[in-house]
Amino acid sequence: MIKFNVPCVLGCENEYLQEALKRHSLGGDGFYTKKCNQFMEEKFQASKVHLTTSCSTALDAAALLCDLKEGDEVILPSYTFPTSASCFALRGAKCVFVDIRPDTLNIDETKIEAAITDWTKVICVVHYAGVACEMDTIMDIAKRHGLLVVEDAAQGVMSKYKGQYLGTIGDFGCYSFHETKNYTSGEGGALIIKDKHYFCQAENILDCGTDRQGFLRGEVGAYSWVTLGSSFMMSELSAAYLYGQLLHAEEINENRLKSWNLYYEGLSDLKTNGKIVLPFVPVECEHNAHMFAIRVKDKSERSSLIQFLKEHEIQAVFHYQPLHSSKEGKQCGTFFEEDQYTTKESERLLRLPLYYGITEEEIHKIIKVIHDFYQ
Ligand SMILES: *Cc1c(COP(=O)(O)O)cnc(C)c1O
Repeated sequence: MIKFNVPCVLGCENEYLQEALKRHSLGGDGFYTKKCNQFMEEKFQASKVHLTTSCSTALDAAALLCDLKEGDEVILPSYTFPTSASCFALRGAKCVFVDIRPDTLNIDETKIEAAITDWTKVICVVHYAGVACEMDTIMDIAKRHGLLVVEDAAQGVMSKYKGQYLGTIGDFGCYSFHETKNYTSGEGGALIIKDKHYFCQAENILDCGTDRQGFLRGEVGAYSWVTLGSSFMMSELSAAYLYGQLLHAEEINENRLKSWNLYYEGLSDLKTNGKIVLPFVPVECEHNAHMFAIRVKDKSERSSLIQFLKEHEIQAVFHYQPLHSSKEGKQCGTFFEEDQYTTKESERLLRLPLYYGITEEEIHKIIKVIHDFYQ
């Protein structure tokens, strides 16, 4: 069976794990956490990076930093992972779901402004498949209306928009290092903060709502509970594993891009004759090959293709149920105006196996089986 995902293991991670054990310090903010944060700050030109236990908890921390009140509104796409929305719902905010663009499946920047009300505080963008949202337009809207921008860049580590790394453009950026993502620590994430005005508050939120970090630096005599927060920091074991992967980030990226390009070339005749839709990457975007997703005629054709691939020992999967159609999503928000593309496109999208180390032979086999299906 060709699996949909195989978590990235390079081999070098073991050395860093052993070193972490020798250091006898396994909690948060240790040696490897600092190494990872520093690596990302330099590589991505980010003013501040903090490792977290997941992208979901990075989003929780970002939502706390947004200082939302009951009744505030957050604009975001419905075509995303539940925690892009639940972090705001947990703060009592209402989610206002804006439709996606049919080409990138990212939030349609032309529909954001009409959804803004007096209660809107935040725009949360999701860079689907590691392809950037139209950030210039979105940042301009946010600036004109005094809104904060949170980037859910869970899938966008190493991707760029007009030369800038995703996650570093908005006020807060969130990365995922879950085993299904390009770089992993099993479970893990990072919070990126642009403005130093938020640095101290972020540090306190991430360290259980206390000023322990300031205490450890000798800035306060004792630490205490100073804000809402939680235990959001990644353990040293995870950070040591992640460090090995970050050092080889370019190599992992190139390997994935090579596979992505093989798919694109191998399936382009089916695009030309109108059988399937292939991914679209705007010229401003450099993507990280997080995903290779095709779109077929409709939901029923998708089911048949998944089944056909399974019979040929290939695991292909669909993706998000739009949040506004989910049980909890209905409680937490509403869809703004017409759902022109969110439901329609989500129902016909199919993700093909793509991970570090998938072989050319495997990709050629998958391309052939898809062609056989359309014969
Ligand atoms: C994976 C993912 C998340 C959640 O990441 P975790 O690290 O598992 O919490 C959130 N948003 C998006 C868009 C994702 O793809």
